[in-house]
Amino acid sequence: MNSHPPKNQNTKAPKNGPILVTGSAGFIGSHVTRRLLADGHAVVGLDNLNEYYDPKLKSDRLALFAKHQNYKHVTGDLADRDLIEAVFDKHQPKRVVHLAAQAGVRYAAENPHVYVSSNVTGTLHILEGCRQTGVEHLVFASTSSVYGANTKMPFSEHDSTEHPLTLYAATKKANEMMAHSYAHLYNIPSTGLRFFTVYGPWGRPDMALFLFTKAILAGEPIKVFNHGKHRRSFTYVDDIVEGIVRILKKPPKPTEDSTKTPKNQSTKTPDPASSRVAPYRIYNIGNEESVELMRYIEVLEKELGKKAKMEMLPLQPGDVPDTESDVTNLTEAINYSPQVNVEEGVANFVKWYRDYYKA
Ligand code: NAD
Repeated sequence: MNSHPPKNQNTKAPKNGPILVTGSAGFIGSHVTRRLLADGHAVVGLDNLNEYYDPKLKSDRLALFAKHQNYKHVTGDLADRDLIEAVFDKHQPKRVVHLAAQAGVRYAAENPHVYVSSNVTGTLHILEGCRQTGVEHLVFASTSSVYGANTKMPFSEHDSTEHPLTLYAATKKANEMMAHSYAHLYNIPSTGLRFFTVYGPWGRPDMALFLFTKAILAGEPIKVFNHGKHRRSFTYVDDIVEGIVRILKKPPKPTEDSTKTPKNQSTKTPDPASSRVAPYRIYNIGNEESVELMRYIEVLEKELGKKAKMEMLPLQPGDVPDTESDVTNLTEAINYSPQVNVEEGVANFVKWYRDYYKA
């Protein structure tokens, strides 16, 4: 393996107790873990290292920080109630970044139960752990997929999320509702982040950029759905990590006055017992520039110095036509401003891919 060393390997004593990161061997979770360790935090990482995609990629990501003195790893499944209870009991995390999930929309056709056990039952166990130890802030991953076939661009948090198109999206919407109920009932401050198409080094082998790069280098055709016409808020992983790290420091507070909640929030649910609003927020996190798939492919071709052979196909069932992220609320909350455009982001991915696969 030829990997980049973690940035700023920090060996200072950790601050403020451990942060639990679920999905720490995953694409986004491994980036978040490296950043938190570099910032001087202690991290307990949990991942079941499942075989949804190449487990070697997961273990290589883990190897980047597994030996860090402030990192402890637990290999286990979110659906294992006793294990999750024991993890909270033993490590007493004060903050949790919950990223582990069964992702992907197509895999659900063959494996629907995994989505419910990992995403719904698993998230319930995380919420119970937060309740058990009085966690100060839970930040969890949701997705732009909750907007379904919404066609009003850009997507803002008050747009309808009542019609998810896939089981994956339905489980993520369920997570938002479950976290809201725990915030409301047990005062667990929680923030859901709706990620928009995340890409970058160490990216997922089931996602377009990885699949396209692999096929183009091998001279094989790429499958271009919707004839390359759909647009996506492609978001570079460092911009996601920055948002997670900043929001983690800002747990939402219960508000007495519903006029103090952020604008455009769909969650102004007053507690029937008072005018209190649960300490719960949901934010979009994504690039405001939405890019057509064909342009993304052109940027990749230029970076690889090779033309793609394309198999043009219609939009697939469950795929949303376009996504575009309105991040006004997150910008207001944490001064969020994505820094990396697709030219720079794709170049960074290709550099990593060539390096890692010696391609
Ligand atoms: P990933 O598949 O690379 O990471 C998820 C990790 O969770 C994997 O390492 C996997 O082994 C682990 N995991 C899965 N089920 C588990 C279980 N039951 N118990 C313990 N560990 C388990 O995916 P990612 O792209 O890093 O996504 C992270 C989060 O962000 C997910 O919640 C995903 O739904 C969400 N998200 C990702 C994107 C994206 O574009 N990558 C977009 C929207 C939302």
